[in-house]
Amino acid sequence: MGTMLTRPPGHRRDIVLRPAATAMVLLAAGHPHETIAVPGVALGEEDVLVAVELSTVCRADAEAARGARRASTPVVLGHESVGRIIALGDAGAMAVDGSPLRIGDRVVWSATVSCRQCDRCLCGRPQSCRSATRYGEERVAADRELAGAFASHVQLRPGTAVVRVPETLPAAVLAPAACATATAWAAVARVRRHRDLGGTRVRVHGAALLGLTVAAIAVELGAVVDVRDPHAERRARARDFGATGFDGEPDAVIHTAGPVTAATVEAVADGGVVVVVGGDARDADSPAAAPAAGRKTGDGAPDADAADLAVLALDVARLSARSTTIAGMQGSTAGDLADAVAFLAGRGRAYPFADVVGSIVPLAAVDAALAAATEPGAPLRIGLVPGP
Ligand SMILES: [Zn+2]
Ligand SMILES: [Zn+2]
Repeated sequence: MGTMLTRPPGHRRDIVLRPAATAMVLLAAGHPHETIAVPGVALGEEDVLVAVELSTVCRADAEAARGARRASTPVVLGHESVGRIIALGDAGAMAVDGSPLRIGDRVVWSATVSCRQCDRCLCGRPQSCRSATRYGEERVAADRELAGAFASHVQLRPGTAVVRVPETLPAAVLAPAACATATAWAAVARVRRHRDLGGTRVRVHGAALLGLTVAAIAVELGAVVDVRDPHAERRARARDFGATGFDGEPDAVIHTAGPVTAATVEAVADGGVVVVVGGDARDADSPAAAPAAGRKTGDGAPDADAADLAVLALDVARLSARSTTIAGMQGSTAGDLADAVAFLAGRGRAYPFADVVGSIVPLAAVDAALAAATEPGAPLRIGLVPGP
């Protein structure tokens, strides 16, 4: 991508970048970013250096920037990105499919770096690794500047899931893969551990990018989907992602935003499953009492009332009698990321993922992008591109 690489003699792992890489550093929450130049990197044996093509602003970034989410500053935010490999450590690195990565490969990568050795990694939850670090969350340190996506380059560490992506897919489709798309895939997969999705009625709470992606994936796997969100324009968008609504009780509920209420949980049909993948009791985007997208008349599910928001007082006898499963989950595995990319490259092309990034601005405009990301009526994603 126009970067000249030099390896000074005697320092095989040191790479000089011309022009220097740039990273946007958040010095402290509520303060503007500062641009730093990173003229070189010390590439570890299995590290991968990626030149960023496009990064997208996730809600978590916007929350960290304004102090609504704890961040160890100074930090380079950003964990949704697509880019191209420009250098590899001496030992090389593997893609998730087991093939060796090469210079020039276009890739996406996991938000989490996991150890691959702890009990959680070994039991299939690398995203909850006991020694996990996450791109866009690590405090900037010497030789650790390029650890977030809001930069011209990202230095990928061993324990990162790297997935090669097709040249034909737009960057706007691919950038959110590591967070929104992979997490959506994981949430639907969680339901599939209980039941096949063919003919299943799935209710999704929240029509931000995560909820919309859940909807499209579930529809493609045979489900009928109803999306609930308090915002009318988001509900309208849910139809574009396959939500048609349905009558009667959902067989599965996937909760992506807002408070989980007793009504949310108890709405699920006999033998049903409730997957909680996001949400917050203090969330201003509460889907409580929201009308459904594409919903037909006569939906029998009870709507939440204000009392439900304060205490999640579940009817335990009902849950027991109905064999309800409630599953919490977070993040995604390497396999989820690979499946998410395969979905975007395949059946996902039927949905408007290319329109998800509503505006693209230069990296230097990161403060404005972060502020705009949480404005009412903001696009699902704002993109950041390196360069002037
Ligand atoms: Zn995210
Ligand atoms: Zn681990």
